[in-house]
Amino acid sequence: MMEMMEIFKDWIANISVMIAGFYIVGKLIKEPVTIYSKYREKYRMGYLGAAIGLLLMFFSIQVTDEVMIDLRHIPLILVAYFAGIGPAIVCAGILAFSRFFFGVSDSSILAFATTIIVGVSVGLVGKYFRGEGFRTNILLNIVSMAIISIHLGVVLPESVSNFEVVVYFWIVAIPAGLFALLFFKDIQKSKRLVLQLANDSQTDYLTGVGNVRFFYRRLNEYIRGAQKKEKAFALLLLDIDHFKKVNDTYGHDAGDQILMQLSELLQSSARYTDEVSRNGGEEFSILLPQCSAGTAREVAERIRKAVENYKFKLPDGRFIHLTISIGISHYGDGAFLPEELYKKADEALYYAKETGRNKVCI
Ligand code: GH3
Ligand code: MG
Ligand code: MG
Repeated sequence: MMEMMEIFKDWIANISVMIAGFYIVGKLIKEPVTIYSKYREKYRMGYLGAAIGLLLMFFSIQVTDEVMIDLRHIPLILVAYFAGIGPAIVCAGILAFSRFFFGVSDSSILAFATTIIVGVSVGLVGKYFRGEGFRTNILLNIVSMAIISIHLGVVLPESVSNFEVVVYFWIVAIPAGLFALLFFKDIQKSKRLVLQLANDSQTDYLTGVGNVRFFYRRLNEYIRGAQKKEKAFALLLLDIDHFKKVNDTYGHDAGDQILMQLSELLQSSARYTDEVSRNGGEEFSILLPQCSAGTAREVAERIRKAVENYKFKLPDGRFIHLTISIGISHYGDGAFLPEELYKKADEALYYAKETGRNKVCI
């Protein structure tokens, strides 16, 4: 009974180490790790998984008087499952090599081989059974445990009951392995939701460009940048001419489709670094970083012409032409605050409308 309590205590310690470890991994890798993540992120998970594995080796669980087991294969399973076979092999390699720090012997060579075999096997299982969710988790655990059990069967001294050790090992490791996978999945899910929310809260639902919240955040960032490095920038506000007529003539859905097409056109005719937002209705803004007033006028004129020449497609297949009016303000020309910049651009836009539309005013 005492013995069982000791094993249970060690088990709790191991689980705690894993939770803490994977929490930190979650913090160190910004985005959820999948096989589609960047190589750097995936391999970072490989190294960090190995670090947790090494830590787990220090928290070995004494299952009988002579035998200690540890749970280093669990981070390896997670690396295989989330990051793929390459990082799994790297993780296994690090874990395997680290055995040699405790001396090179037959048993450390065998341990090296076993760890590599586990790494490759879980990598392959992860690769070919991806997307099976919980069943993959169980399979990964069973495969790695089976290999380690065979290893134990070979290396355990004759005085020890192999059967007893293997049974203990499975009782300890299977729930720990499943728990670790569920835990890391949960971390990834929260991360995904946070990123999605952050993205959604700044995206215009209709057109996919930035929304007004995105616009003001960016505008404030640009102003801070301009104050520090004295890099001026420009703001364009643009509004479709007589858009109400388009809605009245062709319907609101047609209007929506035109707004989507216009967003794409604006993005493709602005410079690569310029940032387009839909500030509301049929009013858009474009922030032009590192831009003189002269360049801003050129860019605006180019955009105005692009819209003028574009054939907007209606839902019924017909095409129509539209024009826009653009107002420009430039950081530094008497405007330093967000409200000032916005007001100046809005006044210029109003002036463009007053004086005939389809034009750029500064
Ligand atoms: P101008 O700007 O040239 O003075 O004329 P306008 O007809 O464009 O005038 P205004 O800016 O006042 O009208 C905006 C119209 O845009 C009103 C509304 O019918 C339309 N609109 C605003 N938001 C949306 C939208 O999300 N979808 C569609 N389809 N139409 C919208
Ligand atoms: Mg308007
Ligand atoms: Mg308008």
